[in-house]
Amino acid sequence: MPLLPEGHPEKIFREDGLRLDGRKPDDLRDLRIEIGVLKNADGSAMVCHGKNRIIAGAYGPREVHPRHLAQSDTGILQVQYRMSTFSVGERKSPVPGRREKEISMVIQHALEPVLFLEQYPNSTIDIFIQVMTADGGTRCASITAAALALADMGIPMRDLVTGVAVGKVDNKPILDLADYEDKWEEGAADMPVAVMMNEKKITLLQLDGQVGIDEYERMLDLAIKGAEGVYEAQKEALRKKYTSEIVGGR
Ligand code: ADP
Repeated sequence: MPLLPEGHPEKIFREDGLRLDGRKPDDLRDLRIEIGVLKNADGSAMVCHGKNRIIAGAYGPREVHPRHLAQSDTGILQVQYRMSTFSVGERKSPVPGRREKEISMVIQHALEPVLFLEQYPNSTIDIFIQVMTADGGTRCASITAAALALADMGIPMRDLVTGVAVGKVDNKPILDLADYEDKWEEGAADMPVAVMMNEKKITLLQLDGQVGIDEYERMLDLAIKGAEGVYEAQKEALRKKYTSEIVGGR
């Protein structure tokens, strides 16, 4: 048996083949999305994906600070992903660590392809992401939230970006890993994916663990299927915000 943290389950599937939270292998966790949650940002969104609670606020296009980062031929996208001290079981240090810096960069690269940054020379679009509660798959849920914050800002975009993770545990592919599944070690892999859903283009694909080519293809199919579910929720949330504005005014 692998060494598991205290409180970690000993089995990852129930006797009836379902996951410990009752989901089928290809089920998403519950998803609730709200647009325009921050009065003081140009665009914002909150994504509650499973137990993850994530807020993204977007600003711009605006002048770049510090000035030496400005590029005369294009705008830039700057992303800051942070986990709050109370987002995980152990109090997380408020000082941003290597993981947060890496995830900020990964999210930036996942979102850049949908923006027309070349139209905003010397300017920046800034996205600040706060993870209030983390429960596995926060980089994907952050991408889902950040793309919506950009859309809420009202700048032209080629597409939305939708994030979802797939993985395998006990050598079985599963969609949308919760934290306890993400931390399972036996026959495990974790593959966060971000997709431009209209064009079916992948803007992020990371893989932690070992998978064969067949497994990889099955996991990718599962990720696209899962992303479709998240994409529908993103569109529904946008629709809801804008129809309520037309009916009720700002
Ligand atoms: P992701 O959240 O994108 O899956 P990781 O694979 O790095 O990113 O992390 C998986 C999960 O591990 C997170 O969602 C979170 O629940 C937990 N986690 C991450 N960092 C910490 C930390 N510093 N302390 C405790 N748990 C953490």
